[in-house]
Amino acid sequence: MKKIPMVDLGAQYKYLKKDIFKRWEKLCDSTSFILGKEVSEFEREYAEWAGTKYAVGVSSGTSALHLALEAVGVKGKKVITTPFTFIATCEAVVQAGAEVVWADIDDKSYTIDPVEIEKKIDEDTACILPVHIYGYPADMDKINKIADKHNLSVIEDCAQAHGAKYKGKKVGTMSDVAGFSFFPGKNLGAYGDAGGITTDDKEKAELIKRLRAHGSSKKYHHTELGYNYRLDALQAAVLRVKLKYIDEWNEARRENVEIYNEALKDTPLTLPRVSENIEHVYHQYSVLAPDRDKLQDKLGRDNIATGIHYPIPVHLQPSFKYMGHKKGDFPVAERISESCISLPIYPELKSSQIEYIADKIIEFYV
Ligand SMILES: *Cc1c(COP(=O)(O)O)cnc(C)c1O
Repeated sequence: MKKIPMVDLGAQYKYLKKDIFKRWEKLCDSTSFILGKEVSEFEREYAEWAGTKYAVGVSSGTSALHLALEAVGVKGKKVITTPFTFIATCEAVVQAGAEVVWADIDDKSYTIDPVEIEKKIDEDTACILPVHIYGYPADMDKINKIADKHNLSVIEDCAQAHGAKYKGKKVGTMSDVAGFSFFPGKNLGAYGDAGGITTDDKEKAELIKRLRAHGSSKKYHHTELGYNYRLDALQAAVLRVKLKYIDEWNEARRENVEIYNEALKDTPLTLPRVSENIEHVYHQYSVLAPDRDKLQDKLGRDNIATGIHYPIPVHLQPSFKYMGHKKGDFPVAERISESCISLPIYPELKSSQIEYIADKIIEFYV
C-alpha cells in the first residue's frame, strides 16, 4: 500500500486548481493585494455560512483568538480554558495580557468540563475560552449558563470545528466572539496562514477590523494600538473557492468515520463517543489505544501516518512552566494525552485505505 498520510492536501488541490488560479490571476491583475474586495466578499460569505452577522478575516487562528480576547477585554484578568488543546489557545490569552487558568476536561468529549470551570472562577475571572477539540463542540449551554451567572464573556476556539453543531447550532454562534483557523490542514484551509472571527456584535466586529490593521479604519488615523493581522487577499481568494465545499467535505469525513468505527469496533481501542445532540466534524479521528507508542511504531512500518494530538498537555509544556503546574494537576487531560492517537482522516480518504489501516490495527492487538 502506498503511504497513507494524515491529510492529503494535494487531493483537493487537483480539482480546485483551475478555479483558484483563475481567481488569483484576476486578483494579481488588479494588484489589490491588501484587504479589498476579495477579503470583504469572503467575510460576507463566511458570516452567511457561519450564521453570524459579522465575520472578520485575519492572519491566523492565533491572531483571531488574540483579537477576540482584546475585543471582550481581558487585560489584567483571568481566562479559563482547557489544557487539552493546541498551544496557540493559551498563547493568545497571554498575548492579550491575561492570565491562563486551566480547568480539566470531560473524559468522553475531551472538551472543557463545566463542573471544573465553576471551581476555578474568582473575582479576577473575565472570560471562558472553550475549545471544540477535534471538531467536537464543547458543552456550550452549560458554559454559557456559568458565564451568565458570573457575568463572564465567552470566546469559542473553533479552529478545529468549522461547521460542527451543538444542539443544532453551529459553533461560532454561541459566544461573544469566536476564532477560526484556516491553516492549510484544518477542515477549511487556505494555502498559507489565515484565520477569521465571527460575532453578532457590531461594535466588536468593527474594533477587531481596526485592531487587525494598526488600530485604523481611515488611513494614517490610528484610534487604538493595533497589529498587522490582516487576512491576505490571495488566501481570501482560496477560501472563497473552498467554502463552497466545506459542508460536503465534513459529510465525507463523517462517512469515513463510520467505516472506521465499524471496522474497529471489536478492537481494544476506545472510539470517539458522540452525544446525540452533537454534529462532529472530525478534524481529527483520535482514539485511545493501549500500548499507544508501539501501535504508532507498527503503523509507521506499515506506511500509515498517525499523529498525537497532543502528547503534552499545555500546563506541562516548558513554555508554561512559569505557571507552576505539575503532573497530576489535570489528570483527565494527562491520561488522554498518554493514550490518544489520531488516524488519517480527510474527505478523500478511500474505504480501501481505511480497511487497510483497520486490518493493521487488528493485527497489532491479536
Ligand atoms: C490550529 C489551532 C489554533 C491556531 O491556529 P493557527 O491558524 O495555526 O494560528 C488555535 N487553536 C486550536 C485548537 C488549533 O487547532
